[in-house]
Amino acid sequence: MNVQEEIKNLVETLNKWAYEYYTLDKPSALDSEYDQAYAQLLKLESENPDLIREDSPTQRTGDVILSGFEKFQHPFNLYSLADVFSREELTAWEERVRKVIPSPEYICELKIDGLSLSLYYENGQLLTAATRGDGSIGENITENVKRIADVPQTLQEAVNIVVRGEAYLPKKAFAKLNAERELEGLPAFANPRNAAAGTLRQLDTSVVRKRGLATFLYQAAGEAPRASQEEVLEYFDELGLVVNKERKFAQNIDEIWDFIEKATERRDQLPYDIDGVVIKVNNLTQQDELGFTVKYPRWAIAYKFPPDLAETEILSVEWTVGRTGVVTPTANMKPVSLAQTTVSRATLHNVDYISEKDVRIADKVIIYKAGDIIPAVQRVVIEKRPVDSQPLVIPSHCPECNSELIHFEDEVALRCVNPLCPAQLRERLIHFTSRDAMNIVGLGEKVVTQFFEKNLITDEADIYHLQKANLLELDNFGEKSADKLLVAIDKSRGNSVEKLLFGLGIRHVGSKGAKILAQHFGNLNRIAEAEVEEILAIPTIGEILAKAIKSYFAQTGSQKLIAELTEAGLNLDYLGGDVRSDGVLAGKTVVLTGKLSSLTRNEAKEKLESLGATVTGSVSKKTDLLVAGEDAGSKLTKAQELGIEIWSESDLEAI
Ligand code: NAD
Repeated sequence: MNVQEEIKNLVETLNKWAYEYYTLDKPSALDSEYDQAYAQLLKLESENPDLIREDSPTQRTGDVILSGFEKFQHPFNLYSLADVFSREELTAWEERVRKVIPSPEYICELKIDGLSLSLYYENGQLLTAATRGDGSIGENITENVKRIADVPQTLQEAVNIVVRGEAYLPKKAFAKLNAERELEGLPAFANPRNAAAGTLRQLDTSVVRKRGLATFLYQAAGEAPRASQEEVLEYFDELGLVVNKERKFAQNIDEIWDFIEKATERRDQLPYDIDGVVIKVNNLTQQDELGFTVKYPRWAIAYKFPPDLAETEILSVEWTVGRTGVVTPTANMKPVSLAQTTVSRATLHNVDYISEKDVRIADKVIIYKAGDIIPAVQRVVIEKRPVDSQPLVIPSHCPECNSELIHFEDEVALRCVNPLCPAQLRERLIHFTSRDAMNIVGLGEKVVTQFFEKNLITDEADIYHLQKANLLELDNFGEKSADKLLVAIDKSRGNSVEKLLFGLGIRHVGSKGAKILAQHFGNLNRIAEAEVEEILAIPTIGEILAKAIKSYFAQTGSQKLIAELTEAGLNLDYLGGDVRSDGVLAGKTVVLTGKLSSLTRNEAKEKLESLGATVTGSVSKKTDLLVAGEDAGSKLTKAQELGIEIWSESDLEAI
């Protein structure tokens, strides 16, 4: 291939990847692959400037191809960051800075892996929120951003300011979202960045609230309100904007590198994903002196972490049936070390994923950690494929009950729809006894499976009719363990009802949702009888969940099960016994307003959340409580008009 062809191929590949990444939120390449191809293109272009193509991604200020969202023209260009991938490249950048600023002070920040966002405040009110887009034109996503709980609608000061930052999905929320999507037969998001982008760029605003997006704001665009980056961040905190506390000053390359090494070590423990470290010249006057290239600021650089990749071999593929009947493929692989752990299994998600990647037994594959959580297959190393290799056989029948599997048109999942499928029942029972559900200590997966195989339990209610003689039939079960288990089963009868509600395994009802419903209605029968509208009146509950509840309790099978569980003496009331540990404000929607003296905005918010509250930005009928500091204005008036409970800062401190 000659250079011209190589450039053409790289441009076409990069443009295809950029489209999948930015517009579809569904990348087919790893970021590191994109970055490597981009670096190769830059190299070839610098060696052959006459071969630079107009459609090259290096010729655009941003890499974005806009989707159908309403466009928003930024008043100034929102620059991206130049990347470096090694200490050498970083040192070269640092030396370039020193040529202009002889003794610079740097500030090192974490590079949050999310979606770039800009917030436009006028007189302290959030007017518009937009994606960065190509730096000049972004997408107007104001309504969605208003549903991110930590974005204030009103700042603590009535200022005009444009704030840049990153919206991200915390790791836990990402894992939960993908688990739910898998249950619903929807494709999993490749990483938290795509999940955040996919969430902010869809039209149902209520989804945004539920997915639990969060933000870190890191820069003032346009006129700077303070003289240094550190002071700007402190000012953001005073205004009520969330800033990342993990930042540090550095005077030279050694100190910068030390921060990078610490960030690399801590990366897995952080509750959110980072893909590198951003180093900025702290003094804003010096930033101005350094200025910008066409694409990037010269006063900042992004150091990107090397990717966590490993090569291994597929040994077999297992198909397992979950409690909702979804049949999921998992690859067993030769054990290999990846991101400081040894892994031997990788998710293959669903049939579409298998055919897209064309994974086969005995293939050598490159695996990686998806969003730092579960290993996934990035690609097959086709050159190493055995000559006699065959595509994977997709099962047509359930591996457990042998009934025909269904591939519904609107789903990517294969489903076993036999309601009596033993695998589904067994998984349901394992869920029922698990810690967050009925918490029957001693009745874990192995014991449930044995009971099940011996036909001693076929549904949840049977657990409560087990006799000591039944228990003694099990392997390794003596008098003592049998007595202990019977006590644990009996104890679970008295659980507060949210545990039972969660244990029933109703679609979309997680432990938090179950708790909110239990608190609100007080009793299982009240929940079972509630109309969709009544359920929807709870601020944090959305339509999908409300409908799922309604349809579950409408089924005769569910009604029969509840009757049997009632008969077996299970408590159906909300007891609120664990309110203290889960917070005195559990389930409450709280708004903060006014100036606080002893706590920062963020500290107050964190405290409220640790007490179980959901903190939102504006007062409405759904608000349960307003915490008002000094000089509280329109929010206080509105809360008074609506008769909402009002606390002072000292009321909050008193808890
Ligand atoms: P980037 O993500 O590499 O870096 C710049 C961005 O970092 C900023 O815009 C900002 O949003 C973010 N950021 C996070 N924390 C920050 C902080 N503390 N301070 C300042 N900024 C911070 O650049 P980009 O232009 O948004 O995206 C290009 C990258 O996207 C590529 O390098 C590649 O990794 C990825 N990409 C991947 C594919 C793919 O197919 N996988 C395709 C296209 C692009």
